[in-house]
Amino acid sequence: SRPTISNSISKVRVVVRVRPFLSQEISAKNGDPRSCISVLDKESESCTEVTVHLKDPNTIRNETYQLDSFFDQTDDTVSKIFYSEVNPLIPGVFYGCNATVFAYGATGSGKTYTMQGTDEKPGLMPLAMSTILSMCQRTGSTAEISYYEVYMDRCYDLLELKAKEIAILDDKDGKIHLKGLSRVPVSSMTEFQEVFSRGIHRRKVAHTGLNDVSSRSHGVLVISVFTPRLDDSGAPFTGKLNLIDLAGNEDNRRTCNEGIRLLESGKINQSLFALSNVIYALNNNKPRVPYRESKLTRILQDSLGGTSRALMVACLNPGEYHESVHTVSLAARSRHI
Ligand code: ADP
Ligand code: MG
Repeated sequence: SRPTISNSISKVRVVVRVRPFLSQEISAKNGDPRSCISVLDKESESCTEVTVHLKDPNTIRNETYQLDSFFDQTDDTVSKIFYSEVNPLIPGVFYGCNATVFAYGATGSGKTYTMQGTDEKPGLMPLAMSTILSMCQRTGSTAEISYYEVYMDRCYDLLELKAKEIAILDDKDGKIHLKGLSRVPVSSMTEFQEVFSRGIHRRKVAHTGLNDVSSRSHGVLVISVFTPRLDDSGAPFTGKLNLIDLAGNEDNRRTCNEGIRLLESGKINQSLFALSNVIYALNNNKPRVPYRESKLTRILQDSLGGTSRALMVACLNPGEYHESVHTVSLAARSRHI
């Protein structure tokens, strides 16, 4: 029996995470860096939205945006985000529903830290894996992972020995398939760490001749779960959780990109804009959801909307006003009417 899916479940929550200042940023400001980000109406944190206030420390410019939740600089917020925002998406995956978590933001804003984390402070990816593995033990389900990146609208399998390009195919119904993408069964965190860290390494070295492409590609970890039906009524439930470290959304007007960088950032911006359009359409019950506007949204079509649930974590560097406005405005725009 499936859980009842209410209409509101297909909404995509959009939350903000501000990383702390790094030690070199603190010393560059003589020990007293000022954050340009704060949250208004703290007392009403329990209600359904927060107002994020962005203030330029050098001028009187400031902006406010409404979002679903706010996680501040204090070090340990990954587990807070995990328990309040990601953990609730997991049970559905055991009933065959898909879910997606995105980290979104400029380069240096903490996306990879939020998704991958470190050995001492695991990010959302290992925390989700570990929760799924313990639920597998209780329910007799099994899990497999895939890990790939989308760079310049091409898809590369990161669990192959050499990061291999995967064909993105349309089937008759216009659904997208990643042909031959590897799936590796995982039954313990040790296995996961081994497979995943090899994938992370490949992501760093995959593109010969180009400097670290990893912040200019979308990195997608897929955890697929197969749950036997208690009543033996047929095929097991299959559900998947996509955990995505999105490419940095740089503002071209400010970064003065040229050549390959400009091409790359054109593709990146196009896919992030398409993603924001899809989320906007879902959150506002639009009859047409524009999945076909980019490879990324087409690949994720079965995991956004319908019975799928999703979360976008907008990551911010507290010392960057313009960059934060760029990120939060798009995040807030996707969120609501
Ligand atoms: P991005 O992936 O968005 O480019 P990173 O995740 O690499 O950004 O983060 C940029 C820097 O900030 C890294 O040095 C990272 O370790 C650090 N950092 C990010 N978030 C945090 C945090 N919550 N606590 C401590 N350091 C962080
Ligand atoms: Mg990164």
